[in-house]
Amino acid sequence: MDSGITVRALHAHAKINLALHVTGRRADGYHMIETLAVFTRFGDRVEIELADSDGFSVSGRHASAVPLDDSNLVVKARDALRQRAGLQHAPPVAIRLEKNLPVASGVGGGSSDAATVLRGLAETWRLDLDEAELARIGLSLGADVPMCLTAKPLIARGVGDELSAVPGFPALGLVLVNPGIAVSTAEVFNALSHRDNEGLPPLPRSLDFHSIRNWLEITRNDLEPAARAIQPAIGKALSVLNKAGAGFARMSGSGATCFGLFETGNVAKRAAVDIRSRHPDWFVAATRSMTSETDAHGQD
Ligand code: ATP
Repeated sequence: MDSGITVRALHAHAKINLALHVTGRRADGYHMIETLAVFTRFGDRVEIELADSDGFSVSGRHASAVPLDDSNLVVKARDALRQRAGLQHAPPVAIRLEKNLPVASGVGGGSSDAATVLRGLAETWRLDLDEAELARIGLSLGADVPMCLTAKPLIARGVGDELSAVPGFPALGLVLVNPGIAVSTAEVFNALSHRDNEGLPPLPRSLDFHSIRNWLEITRNDLEPAARAIQPAIGKALSVLNKAGAGFARMSGSGATCFGLFETGNVAKRAAVDIRSRHPDWFVAATRSMTSETDAHGQD
């Protein structure tokens, strides 16, 4: 089953919800959403190597915030793929995770790690799985895993698993800011006052920076008011992004990470340097979003 490549070094992209409307709640308690999501070049990194026995290690700035046992989504993804593919005897692998994304922060780090492991292992083990089967295994790990498997601009509906690609969506300059706080997704959803909001308006016909910014102005992140009430520092992160010149700023997912939109990658970089100098303890990253054409998860 050796694929010929000894070490696979893959990207696990951050997921940014540019807009997120909560449209209802299912009988099983899951919330229905409509979200426009993009994925950034900045993210975690995953290395997969065939080994004598299974191993898992974590390094990076946010390593201490993730579990090392089989509750880690990386390990869950490995085990789920082995089991679902009927491959209990698939060769052992050493998986190394570089945790660059803040944890429990609304950028889907765990889901993205899981998606990257599914992709990387499917190649390493040379599995003949189609996208739908991979997405089904992903969904068993978390509602956001299927979208992280695509890592391309998309609109997600349902619990986040009904995906429509948005071809032609441009690469956006983004600055991600987290004031060093973790937010529990469940706590934010529980604190919602309205759950039956209208869906997203139709996307503008022309997908340029200005039309996208204007469109964002008429959308919301319905989780933001609840998250800000739980963690007021989110409001501070948003005002810092606005002061640094963001054309638009909003919280991603259930927070607390916020994004600022910038017209070019260079302007985003300058803003990030400025924010970092004022808030050296915060997580601050300048990055660009992936387009439908960018090579998601790309091997280094
Ligand atoms: P979402 O935006 O999908 O709600 P998030 O960014 O808010 O996700 P994650 O960083 O994915 O949240 O972490 C959620 C929980 O999952 C944390 O409590 C963390 O302990 C656990 N977890 C397990 N594996 C991982 C992983 N590889 N990376 C991050 N968190 C993980």
